[in-house]
Amino acid sequence: MSEAATLAETEPRTVEHFDVVVVGAGISGVGGAYHLTKQCPGTSFVVLESQESFGGTWLTHRYPGIRSDSDLYTFGYRFKPWTGAPIATAAEILKYMGEVIEENGLASRIRYRHRIDAASWSSERKLWTVEATRTDTGEAVRFTANFLWMCQGYYRHSEGYTPEWPGMDSFKGRIVHPQTWPDDLDIAGKKVVVIGSGATAATLIPAVAGKCAHVTMLQRSPTYFRTGRNAIEIADELRELGIDESWIHEIVRRKILSEQDKFTRRTFTEPEKVTQELLGQVRAHLGPDYDVQTHFTPSYRPWRQRLAFIPDADLFQAIAAGKASVATDEIEGFTENGILLQSGKVLEADVVVTATGFHLNVLGDIRFAIDGEPLVFSDTVTYRGMMFTGVPNLAWVFGYFRASWTLRSDLVADFVCRLLNRMKDKGARKVTVALRPEDQDMPLLPWIDPEDFNPGYLMRGMHLLPKRGNKREWQHTQDHWAEKDELPAIDLDDPAFVYE
Ligand SMILES: Cc1cc2nc3c(=O)[nH]c(=O)nc-3n(C[C@H](O)[C@H](O)[C@H](O)COP(=O)(O)OP(=O)(O)OC[C@H]3O[C@@H](n4cnc5c(N)ncnc54)[C@H](O)[C@@H]3O)c2cc1C
Repeated sequence: MSEAATLAETEPRTVEHFDVVVVGAGISGVGGAYHLTKQCPGTSFVVLESQESFGGTWLTHRYPGIRSDSDLYTFGYRFKPWTGAPIATAAEILKYMGEVIEENGLASRIRYRHRIDAASWSSERKLWTVEATRTDTGEAVRFTANFLWMCQGYYRHSEGYTPEWPGMDSFKGRIVHPQTWPDDLDIAGKKVVVIGSGATAATLIPAVAGKCAHVTMLQRSPTYFRTGRNAIEIADELRELGIDESWIHEIVRRKILSEQDKFTRRTFTEPEKVTQELLGQVRAHLGPDYDVQTHFTPSYRPWRQRLAFIPDADLFQAIAAGKASVATDEIEGFTENGILLQSGKVLEADVVVTATGFHLNVLGDIRFAIDGEPLVFSDTVTYRGMMFTGVPNLAWVFGYFRASWTLRSDLVADFVCRLLNRMKDKGARKVTVALRPEDQDMPLLPWIDPEDFNPGYLMRGMHLLPKRGNKREWQHTQDHWAEKDELPAIDLDDPAFVYE
């Protein structure tokens, strides 16, 4: 077959136009769709999602025990009360999102199995052209849109990050990544080693402990955890009093946010005291003889990496019961039957789970071009982590590290809807953010300060991310407490916004 014939077959037959294309049907994209219907009635839009259903993170991850590590009062949307226990399973989160879709008639707005491969902006037409592939039929489909709302999350959904270790090929057992958990994996009677000690490992280990022969958490360095009951007392009390769920949602959100803000500030002002409190919780569960110094005392200040909440201390209970253990060591390499550590110790394993993180995926692995020139995202400067210099009619959602992601996706949605309405009022077809005269000499810095927050996937991918300036307008501050007031107050007639 000639090349021309192949091209003709993949050339899209139709082009559909929408005012807005939303990329991704995770918690951010479904929220975006909701806000568009409420705040921009009459705006045509479509949500394009490469997977077979909604949920994003909560659909992709199917490993045992998969659950949130932040509470659902704040991870849930502002507009739909959460009525269950604060830490929720993926199934519960999917049910909640399904209700949002059904209650608001959003199903017809979402097209599944549509993977966006490329997006190009034409200054002449003032339009984005979006090239997608239907993953079920392989058919190429094309859309045009005035505005792109990027809700593609921050990591590649198709596969997780697994480092290369010597001897992996010789290992006779199975190596699995939690992001692509095999349906046929039977752990009964098996020795399991989980590499990593982040939120994923902390969730998975209590879920498999007791179901396999033994599970070991193998970490290079320790992580901070917080423990507590998977319940919120005030929510239960208010429920007993018959208070309306929407009031309970709002009251509990405010209480959690206020407490989180105080806690986060304390990690900067009195890190040593906070460290001792966190380690005190661990000691209380593991007893005085356990080596908390080696296995649970990180070298960094609390909150420099995500701090996972362990409901009902289930991870520590599994360790205390002897069903799980911790090895703090470096990997020398794999052997046929396990993992050789730098200390010389060998961890025997039938199954190795690499809870080693993600591939950062800044723009949904979409090839972006502006007037035919490839977009180099790292050459842009971010406007409050939502827009980028030189990139017209595009907003993206990047949530918080230290607070629930959805708190920010709701705030960004309000901003996008306001911006779309402002463009309509002005009769503008294009909006770009641009450095103002007073910003021209501003030092440009990496997206995030590693002293502030430094998980592996961000450090590995920092060179791909836009730059930040040294003023709040030109940063993603990660400060929800301030942003909840700052974002709604953005002056859309500020010279940073250039309309055409
Ligand atoms: C296991 C795990 C647990 C987490 N727990 C919490 C928590 O408790 N609290 C918290 O605040 N955060 C948590 N996070 C972070 C979490 O990813 C976010 O909070 C949130 O779910 C992100 O939602 P999102 O909709 O922005 O992105 P995602 O959930 O990543 O969804 C993005 C969607 O976009 C689609 N997509 C991407 N690229 C394309 C493309 N090119 N074409 C079409 N579709 C595309 C993807 O298929 C996906 O469905 C967790 C992350 C993980 C991995």
